[in-house]
Amino acid sequence: MKLAMIGFGQAGGKIVDKFLEYDRETGSGIVRSAVAVNTAKADLLGLEHIPEENRVLIGQARVKGHGVGADNELGAEIAEEDIDEVQGAIDNIPVHEVDAFLIVAGLGGGTGSGGSPVVAKHLKRIYTEPVYGLGVLPGSDEGGIYTLNAARSFQTFVREVDNLMVFDNDAWRQTGESVEGGYDHINEEIVRRFGVLFGAGEVEAGDNVAESVVDSSEIINTLDGGGVSTVGYASEDVEVSSGGGLLSRFKGGDGGTDDGMDTANTTNRITSLVRKAALGRLTLPCEIEGAERALLVMAGPPEHLNRKGIERGRKWLEEQTGSMEVRGGDYPTNAPKVAASILLAGVHNVPRIKELQQVAIEAQDNIDDIRSQSEDNLEDLVEDDEDELDPLF
Ligand code: GDP
Repeated sequence: MKLAMIGFGQAGGKIVDKFLEYDRETGSGIVRSAVAVNTAKADLLGLEHIPEENRVLIGQARVKGHGVGADNELGAEIAEEDIDEVQGAIDNIPVHEVDAFLIVAGLGGGTGSGGSPVVAKHLKRIYTEPVYGLGVLPGSDEGGIYTLNAARSFQTFVREVDNLMVFDNDAWRQTGESVEGGYDHINEEIVRRFGVLFGAGEVEAGDNVAESVVDSSEIINTLDGGGVSTVGYASEDVEVSSGGGLLSRFKGGDGGTDDGMDTANTTNRITSLVRKAALGRLTLPCEIEGAERALLVMAGPPEHLNRKGIERGRKWLEEQTGSMEVRGGDYPTNAPKVAASILLAGVHNVPRIKELQQVAIEAQDNIDDIRSQSEDNLEDLVEDDEDELDPLF
């Protein structure tokens, strides 16, 4: 499906930048337009692929291009005040050519955390296209203020978008890596997972066996209904035969006659990839049981995909989630690997969110306590014990 992407704040901008890189490398054609919005000039300058005219610096009068310093209330205020500047960049997007908006942001910071829900609310008032969010949760080692920011932003953002897809940095941290190196790796993971998913809806009918190819309406219908979503992914390298892909696909598709062994292998590979994707590390780890809707996308060379495998995988997902709304289809590619990407929409049993909220409440109480004692403590320090000194004026 074609998306208008808005990267808000540093993380949001970098991730959208990566989506453009992915698009160029794979030719998947999911980014119709890309806009970056920030209060920090340096972050906008650091982007590589988002066109300069689509980089919007907001809040210049308030913070002079220096960012909001993890103050997400200020981030939200600035986004409200400068919404016309954001809209100015969106005016350049041919909205009739996009299937949806996707607002991407790290929820632990200030600009993206505060500004994303504001822009989501604005876009929903103006356009009929769905507005989705991709929110990144901070690592648990980032500290209380980031957790508090994320918990508050998460609550607000979910309410303002048609669906909030979540990626949890904490679940994807790698030890022994520098933060920057770590983010590079994490951003690639984000882009691969969501890229396969959104790319699926971009395959032209007629490229391959059209009826089993995922359509963008299936992605939209899975996300429709709102709430919080997570994505699972698993892949396996395969050999690509030169030519004859379609032929063997047809043979495999109807159960296989000449090459029953190959068909069985293909089917088994697909079913085990589906299990690995659903039970392995999700972008937001959670219990998949109770997910309201799901979409299974099988990507790979056509000769390595078959309807039987996808159907089995889909059935298995129905059993595991307890949902009757599980869609499935394929995404033919030329890459020498078969990948299962699973979108689980409307998940409810997410211990990580409960933990985030608990830590956020503690951080908030702690900040309130310190603030309330601050005046007394300063007085203790500044005033001499016997009150013998007089201030200058
Ligand atoms: P903002 O510029 O004020 O919106 O804040 P940032 O985007 O710099 O940071 C917000 C949060 O996003 C941080 O607390 C990190 O958890 C996360 N973050 C920052 N940079 C990246 C990145 O490149 N990738 C990912 N996945 N997360 C990031």
